[in-house]
Amino acid sequence: DMTPIATTNPATGRVEKTFDALTDEEVDRRVERAANAYPSFRMTPIAQRASWMNGAADILDREADEVAAMMTTEMGKTLKAAVAETQKCAKACRFYAAHAEEFLSDRRPADPDAVGARDAYVHYQPIGPVLAVMPWNFPLWQVIRFAAPALMAGNVGLLKHASNVPQTALYLEDLFRRAGFPEGAFQTLLIGSAKVERVLRDPRVKAATLTGSEPAGRSVAAIAGSEIKTTVLELGGSDPFVVMPSADIEAAARVATDSRCLNNGQSCISAKRFIVDIGCADEFERLFVANMAAKRVGDPMDDATDIGPLVNEDGRAEVEAQVADAVAKGARVLCGGERPDGPGWYYPPTVLADVTPEMRIYQEEVFGPVAALYRVRGVSKAVEIANATGFGLGSNAWTRDDIEQQRFVRELDAGQVFINGMVTSFPELPFGGTKRSGYGRELSAEGMHAFCNAKTVWVG
Ligand code: NDP
Repeated sequence: DMTPIATTNPATGRVEKTFDALTDEEVDRRVERAANAYPSFRMTPIAQRASWMNGAADILDREADEVAAMMTTEMGKTLKAAVAETQKCAKACRFYAAHAEEFLSDRRPADPDAVGARDAYVHYQPIGPVLAVMPWNFPLWQVIRFAAPALMAGNVGLLKHASNVPQTALYLEDLFRRAGFPEGAFQTLLIGSAKVERVLRDPRVKAATLTGSEPAGRSVAAIAGSEIKTTVLELGGSDPFVVMPSADIEAAARVATDSRCLNNGQSCISAKRFIVDIGCADEFERLFVANMAAKRVGDPMDDATDIGPLVNEDGRAEVEAQVADAVAKGARVLCGGERPDGPGWYYPPTVLADVTPEMRIYQEEVFGPVAALYRVRGVSKAVEIANATGFGLGSNAWTRDDIEQQRFVRELDAGQVFINGMVTSFPELPFGGTKRSGYGRELSAEGMHAFCNAKTVWVG
């Protein structure tokens, strides 16, 4: 486990700040603090927790510009995207502050007589310290979408963030402390991934949530499984984006571009595979390639930039290797495909046509602004290719035909299907995947219940 804990600016390649990992003793002290904080924290009134959570939202809004600049420096997303992410986090905090009471309220079955009781209900209780292992791509949002519901439910949080976003990780701990949450309610552990097992096996830690790659998810889930601890996994995606002839092709081509280039192409729910019916393929391809080629790649701090650098050297090398593999096996490059000279880990928007099953990108997720184009005839063939990967996170289908819409809703094997719009997440709706994209749901009431004991109460 050699990943240094450091801020390295992807726009320059310069190491800006390094941090020492916590010692085992320091980790233990924090776990102890979490375990000690929990019994009284869970008993705080929901209204009290809501007032702290709204306080966190206010701080995020007030400090949006500084937080955004910190994220851009650590992982390269554009400053305007980082500001939007910060605002989205503030909204999610307010959403859970407003809805926790309702989500945690007792649920009564329609007829207590049916279970032979005077009264019977489901009572939601927190479970204790939860470990969150989080990635760098949305360094604030990924954490908040766990922390807001978990803390509102009365759990306490331990964050092991990605090693390349330590400043954002420390900011998050500081945010909840300044918002008024008691000591130990939310703590950051600056540790490498090899130290996760030790924390996860600690009997005081009750559950884990992980967003990131498949190997990381598999490891955390296996360890948690051997301890009989619950997990929520949100892993990769290679979302399909199906376009049928009845669609608004211009809108589809615009949203396709925005989705593929979201977060410099490094989002699990970016559309990555564009599956277009031959009845509209020429038109879609022309508009899509023009849009992709028109995106401005450059300094993420510059307001005119659409796409900043990729996160690091390895990330770019991986994208280049995937493109090279496809080209060697016969894919055509319709735009992009070559890294620019100079410092920073930039990679241009790229569209590949004639993609076939032998190519790595047919199956693999591409974490960069590279689109794979497929031409198909009819809904059945579109669904077949859409479902042909091991992933099942989001999916997009563009059609104005009712019957086709219903087929995509039923047949796309994914955690979400968006018709005539871009896959995104909302605090109001559950978020998660099928197949190797993971399991469990975040956000909405379901995200809160994921780390609750749904206790059956029966009163005779
Ligand atoms: P990782 O999965 O390696 O990192 C995510 C988090 O998991 C980090 O905190 C990391 O810590 C930790 N981690 C890594 N390995 C383990 C392990 N064996 N046990 C416990 N924790 C672990 O993602 P990468 O940043 O390396 O990205 C690689 C690929 O993952 C991407 O190309 C993309 O395909 C996918 N990914 C998907 C994301 C999503 O949103 N679904 C987000 C990020 C990546 P540390 O940083 O210290 O290694």
